[in-house]
Formats: sequence, structure tokens, C-alpha cells
Amino acid sequence: MTDPVFPRLALIGIGLIGASIALATRRSGAAGHVAIHSRTAKTLERAEELGLGDSYHADPADAVKDADCVILCIPVGASGAATKAIARHLKPGATISDVGSVKASVIAQMAPHLPANVHLVPAHPVAGTEYSGPDAGFAALFDNRWCILTPPPEADPAAVARLLDFWSRLGANVETMTAEHHDLVLAITSHVPHLIAYNIVGTAADLETVTQSEVMKFSAGGFRDFTRIAASDPTMWRDIFLNNREAVLEMLGRFTEDLTALQRLIRYGEGDKLYDLFARTREIRRGIIAAGQAIDAADLDRPHGKDDDEAG
Ligand code: NAP
Repeated sequence: MTDPVFPRLALIGIGLIGASIALATRRSGAAGHVAIHSRTAKTLERAEELGLGDSYHADPADAVKDADCVILCIPVGASGAATKAIARHLKPGATISDVGSVKASVIAQMAPHLPANVHLVPAHPVAGTEYSGPDAGFAALFDNRWCILTPPPEADPAAVARLLDFWSRLGANVETMTAEHHDLVLAITSHVPHLIAYNIVGTAADLETVTQSEVMKFSAGGFRDFTRIAASDPTMWRDIFLNNREAVLEMLGRFTEDLTALQRLIRYGEGDKLYDLFARTREIRRGIIAAGQAIDAADLDRPHGKDDDEAG
């Protein structure tokens, strides 16, 4: 096995993503010692029972002590407070990163607290499921998934290269872009789709003329996939929408215009135009499968047999 990228790694937060990083790190040897902190004793104890790391710390300052890399694996809205709590205890030269589904807001929350002698290199693994907590983690979560790094312009290239190496060792394909571009791309590929799912499931639940049992019974008609996405963690998704407000509203505006155009096509019976759109979108789905980013191609060994529901 090759040398670890980071002799000591600290994970702040040990839910689905933190636990998956811990397990993928062990599988790959990408880090030596893995120190774990979680906000509640219950989650920390569960992480210990599962044997996810090498040491467990109730105090985040103890977890990050001497760590070469610290990764926040918590809801994006908690990034500022968590960074403030550990900033003074970070080792000079350490890399500090995160896994948040929104990047510009996370950088704005973290950067003001950090000393000049640590390297902030934010990251977002575009992989997930609708499950939460340490039990949901699995080592293969990042295999052949994208991990997007959004280093600020002044970031140290060597620190960026180390984090890129780390995520590659975890099985991910790594790409770098600006935080603003990330937030725009993810607004349309993940955030707005989740909003649509939350909305359609809410609308169905509110229908007075259709019973709950009919919704369940006939859900194979497309609704079922929406319910899976709409089962994603409420805290995480609340934070995503509040922290990527501008990009989501921009994409939602476009989406609403296009939906209105579709409404007109249906109203005026313009079948050819509907057919053209559906044919075009079918090609997009085929492209995703060809790129190995859908369950049809590559996901069958994943727990629950689930397709990704996250890019968020
Ligand atoms: P999760 O399974 O719900 O775990 C959340 C972790 O954060 C737990 O350790 C929890 O601690 C801690 N936490 C919750 N609220 C906190 C707060 N206010 N302050 C400090 N710690 C807090 O969440 P996850 O799915 O791993 O998501 C973590 C991050 O990954 C989020 O930023 C999310 O945007 C990003 N992400 C998620 C996915 C996905 O599909 N789930 C994919 C890519 C990126 P306790 O349990 O001890 O309270």
C-alpha cells in the first residue's frame, strides 16, 4: 500500500458522508490516523461502535489537534460556528476542507475564522443517498463519482494537489472550479430537482380527491422516484436552499418559464413540439448512463441498490 496522503485526518461530523470518508480512507490507506468528532455523544458513540476511526473526541479542538487535514462533514449552515470552534487549534500548514453541497456561502462562513498558516480547500463529493447518520456510510460511496474542489484563487497549489490526491484515493474523479460556478451548476443538476421532488410529493399529499393509499398503490407511474428524493435529510436541504439562494432562484425562474411553455404546448395540442423535447431529453439520460453516472451502468453493488439522489 502506498503512503498515506495525510498522516492524521480529522473528521468533524460523522453522518453519511463523514462515515463514508472514514471507511473509504481505511480501504485505501489515504490517511494514517482518523480522529472523529460529532456534536452529540450518541452519534460519536455509534461511530465508535461501528469502528469508523482510530480516536473519538467529544471536544472538536482535541480531534483537530496535530491533524494534517480536517474535513467538516456537517450541514452547510453550521460551517461558520464549527470553524470558529477549531480555528485556534489547527496545526500550522494543515489543510481544512469540507463536503458541503454549497460552496460560496461555506467559504464566506469559514474563511474569516481561519489563521493565515492553514490552507482552505473546500470540496463537494457529488455522491450520496437519502439516508443519514453514521450507519448509512459505506466505503464505495465515492467510487467513480465526481468530487469538485473549489479552492479560492489564493490557495496553495501544493495543498490543492494533496486534497485532489486524497479524493482520488477514495475512488472519486476530481475536478476543480470556482465556488460560484459550482453553485450554479449544482443549482440546476441537484438543488432545483430536489425542490421539484419536495413540491410534487407535497402536492400529491395535499390532494383531497386522491387518497394516500392510491398515491402509494400507483406510485410506479413516476411518483416513486420523487418520493425517494423527497426523503432526503430536511436539515441538510433547508441549509442548501438558504445558502444557495441566488443560483437556485435564477434556475427556478428559467424552469418556471419552460414549464409555462410546456403548458401552452399541451393546451394547444402541439404534439410535434412535445415529442421533439422528449426525444432530446431521452438523449441526455442516455448520455448520463454512457458516462457511468447512473445505476443502470455501474451502481449495482451499492448498498440499497440506489441511484444517487444527491449532487446537493
Ligand atoms: P448526516 O448524515 O445527517 O450527518 C450530519 C453530521 O453533522 C452528524 O455528525 C451531526 O452530528 C452533525 N451535525 C448536524 N447538525 C450540526 C450542527 N448544527 N453543528 C455541528 N454538527 C452538526 O449528514 P450528511 O448526509 O453526512 O451531510 C453532511 C454534509 O455533506 C452536508 O453539508 C451536505 O450538504 C453534504 N453532502 C451530503 C450528501 C448527501 O447525499 N447526504 C452528498 C454530498 C454532500 P450529530 O449527529 O452528533 O448531531
